[in-house]
Amino acid sequence: MKIILLGPPGAGKGTQAKSISNKYSIPHISTGDIFRKNISEKTPLGIEAKSYIDKGQLVPDKLTIDIVQDRLEHEDCKNGFLLDGYPRTVSQAEALKNFLNEKGEKLDTALLIDVQKEFIIDRMTGRRVCPDCGASYHVRFNPTKVEGKCDICGSVVIQRADDTESTVKDRLDVYETQTQPLIEYYKNQGLLSTVDGTQSIDDVFKDICGVLGAINSDNN
Ligand code: ADP
Ligand code: AMP
Repeated sequence: MKIILLGPPGAGKGTQAKSISNKYSIPHISTGDIFRKNISEKTPLGIEAKSYIDKGQLVPDKLTIDIVQDRLEHEDCKNGFLLDGYPRTVSQAEALKNFLNEKGEKLDTALLIDVQKEFIIDRMTGRRVCPDCGASYHVRFNPTKVEGKCDICGSVVIQRADDTESTVKDRLDVYETQTQPLIEYYKNQGLLSTVDGTQSIDDVFKDICGVLGAINSDNN
């Protein structure tokens, strides 16, 4: 399966991506995670990306497109992939389409996790993430089993620097102007599927399995 996840910041893309990646045995590729890893390792890419991420802006297309294309060339993407947080602009979407076309491949679906704006501030300011394995938690909606420790790897969970209320508002504006048009873009190509992201985490996953199961059986 070749899947991209769409939805505003805080929709639950990272949360659901872990479960989808396990179920379908495809790598979860999060551009945000790639940038954060580079920031923590202070690579040139990380230093450049940080200046945009801290302000809630998008990292320039050229840089982002190159990173994703490199990643998609890895052996583990041969049977599919799950892109989380990419594409975020129409230029990135066109680049992905051309990249796949050149290999005679195409996306199976662009899966929108639909969540209205009023849910987002609460979700993002309460988010806690594991800096080591990338797992995402919420202080109220999805707490860690042991306070402050990742359920998966036991590392201390942290609050992301860009999850403050003012940066979240900037990120939502960026989403509306630059990323939301992708919903129409994929709808016009007959690739959009949508689930209601305001349900519980388990119910969202059930709906996602329903959608992906139907696509998978159409393909076989
Ligand atoms: P995204 O990757 O789309 O930015 P995350 O998966 O990190 O979003 O989720 C954002 C926050 O909302 C996290 O704190 C997560 O635990 C919480 N969350 C995710 N899905 C739900 C849900 N269905 N209901 C309530 N909280 C959720
Ligand atoms: P995320 O972890 O998906 O919330 O991404 C965190 C931040 O990384 C975003 O607010 C952007 O600054 C940057 N970023 C992640 N993915 C992209 C992308 N596809 N294009 C540009 N910037 C991105």
